Amino acid sequence: MLTYRSPTNLPTGALVRVPLGKRDVLGVVWDAGSDASTGEIDPGRIRAISGTLEGIAPLSAHWQQLVSFTARYYQRSLGEVALAALPPQLRELSPAQMLRRLRRPAAKTLPATAAQDVRDSDAALNAPTREPVLSAEQCEVLAQVAVHPGPFLLFGATGSGKTEVYLQCVQDLLAADPHAQALIMVPEINLTPQLEARFRARFAPLYGADALVSLHSGMTNPQRLKAWISAHGGSARIVLGTRMAVFASMPKLRLIVVDEEHDPSYKSSEGARYSARDLAVYRGQLEGAKVVLGSATPSLESWYLSRPASEGGRYLRLHMPSRIGQLAALPLVRRVDMNHQPRRAVFSLPLLAAIRQRIARGEQCLIFLNRRGYAPVLHCADCGWKSECPHCSAFRVFHKIDRTLRCHHCGFTERVPRACPACGNPDIAPIGRGTEQLEEHLTALLSDVRRAGSVTAQCPDGEPVRVARIDADSTRLKGSLESQLAAVHSGEVDVLVGTQMVAKGHDFRRITLVAAVNPDGALFSSDFRAPERLFGLLMQAAGRSGRDPALGAQSEVWIQTFQPTHPLYAALKKHDYPGFAEQQLAERAQAAMPPFSAQALVRAEARTQEAAQALLNLAREGALDATQGMAAWGTDWEALSTLITVYPAVPMSIARIANIERAQMLVESPSRAALQKFLAGWQSVLHHARAQPACKGTIRWAIDVDPVAI
Ligand SMILES: [Zn+2]
Ligand SMILES: [Zn+2]
Repeated sequence: MLTYRSPTNLPTGALVRVPLGKRDVLGVVWDAGSDASTGEIDPGRIRAISGTLEGIAPLSAHWQQLVSFTARYYQRSLGEVALAALPPQLRELSPAQMLRRLRRPAAKTLPATAAQDVRDSDAALNAPTREPVLSAEQCEVLAQVAVHPGPFLLFGATGSGKTEVYLQCVQDLLAADPHAQALIMVPEINLTPQLEARFRARFAPLYGADALVSLHSGMTNPQRLKAWISAHGGSARIVLGTRMAVFASMPKLRLIVVDEEHDPSYKSSEGARYSARDLAVYRGQLEGAKVVLGSATPSLESWYLSRPASEGGRYLRLHMPSRIGQLAALPLVRRVDMNHQPRRAVFSLPLLAAIRQRIARGEQCLIFLNRRGYAPVLHCADCGWKSECPHCSAFRVFHKIDRTLRCHHCGFTERVPRACPACGNPDIAPIGRGTEQLEEHLTALLSDVRRAGSVTAQCPDGEPVRVARIDADSTRLKGSLESQLAAVHSGEVDVLVGTQMVAKGHDFRRITLVAAVNPDGALFSSDFRAPERLFGLLMQAAGRSGRDPALGAQSEVWIQTFQPTHPLYAALKKHDYPGFAEQQLAERAQAAMPPFSAQALVRAEARTQEAAQALLNLAREGALDATQGMAAWGTDWEALSTLITVYPAVPMSIARIANIERAQMLVESPSRAALQKFLAGWQSVLHHARAQPACKGTIRWAIDVDPVAI
């Protein structure tokens, strides 16, 4: 925080341009009250602000509090968090440019008093979409949301109509309060167009097209600025966005919805590594806005927080177990024991037979494998050479489509060598499988099958089966995901192979079979959250099937596994999330892992692994040593040292990326407050450690509070 003087009285929260060195940068007046003449700084040395951003109202005290809390909780500087929370153009444009921007074609903002007129006129023109009849479960949930303060965990099966509940909550709110604003968050940009279309259809006829704006990183900077300004000015009644939207300035925020609240994308993986879901709950309490977290497979943290209030729960859990309307029962989950299948078989015989049967009936299949490329590694059987990345401690992935070896961590790409680079053996072979290989393999296996149901003129009956693939590689070009999804929807595709990208959110009405060909890896991962993620992903993938009422009766989910009796799959078969959650929580309680403890990770990057670990271990010793501890934490140190466990530094699971060595250290405490106090004091210890000769070559370190991937 820096001090400047201003010729006029500026309100707290005002946006200003201030000189910093030779540059002019954006500033937010954080504390307007202080009178520099009584301060310790020589008033003569305080520089004047260069200008104010006219026409933009000051940021609210609540917004400032949200930013301060984020900075404090996630151990970052206030300025960094505040600036990152504002749209980029606000930082870049001069006051004059900003004024021009604000004057530009008077964005058709909608004063609250005019809402009624628009409602009358537009409603007649755009015949509003008819609201569906609500199920008894939806009505019950809405009644609870109306009378309780929340926060709420809406635990609803896929297809139970959660989105309609969100729409109804927003509709009730906007109708009751002519100024109220609602924030709707989704985990991924890909999911915003779908949801935006539904919100637009419902609310544009009522409140005008400008009443709804989006905020996500896929927008251009001018678009983001425009959306931000209408949210900040209050003319946008609904803001729909990804995790960054949690910082949108909304003066009359009354409702926050976090859809798919379990999704790891809500946790930022750079800068201030905040959890937008957790900040949404904090922000709701701060501003008196109701918060609804929704999921079919909630995070175990939220599940635990929504246990009965009598047991200490703080969220109200609302349950919608049934699929609505014409949707059939949840799909049947089948486990295939791969121990009894031919060795090295990618597709078991029963699964192949089931896929053929679907094609014969003109239905579609989704084959799910969370690994893109053709094969994760190339290998020479003669000398043992493997396609390691020279810059990372990882293998380069073989992409057959363009004959390349690509590192998925640093991007390093080379053409596939004709022969083993180490011994010259021309016979180098792929090991393992990715989506590309699955697509190729399946096309070959199904080459004798002919299409049954002709859906479009381009794909008449009797043509070869069409297998398509959707993953990060096939959708790199802008618009390609949309066109590929359209091909699936129109029925041009019979079998779709994809990564977790296709498991999320999209409604494929004609898909009646979803298969996970090799999901076992997550059962034995060193990351204790891997089973939780796998369960969520498989439930979500299962939710893709059976969405067409006419076909729903036959829909199935196939799991190929070497662990058919594993409790995770047993729970999945019963669609029993509560059972799975209880079992996982019991394990975590036993091991004192989150949510039964609070964690933080300190990560260090350096030229050498030794330097990275030295920094962390020196900081650890500093925390354990009484003299250093007393210096950093004062008399709190003794109490803290009994509550905090600092584990020794270890290399990260991928220890080197792009020639930078990475190490991490886990800090754990049964008390979140103690952990917070510890981390705040530890900053100085870490800074001190970095200056030591052993840490020469350290590039950076950062603290990750409540990490989601260990
Ligand atoms: Zn070789
Ligand atoms: Zn690499």
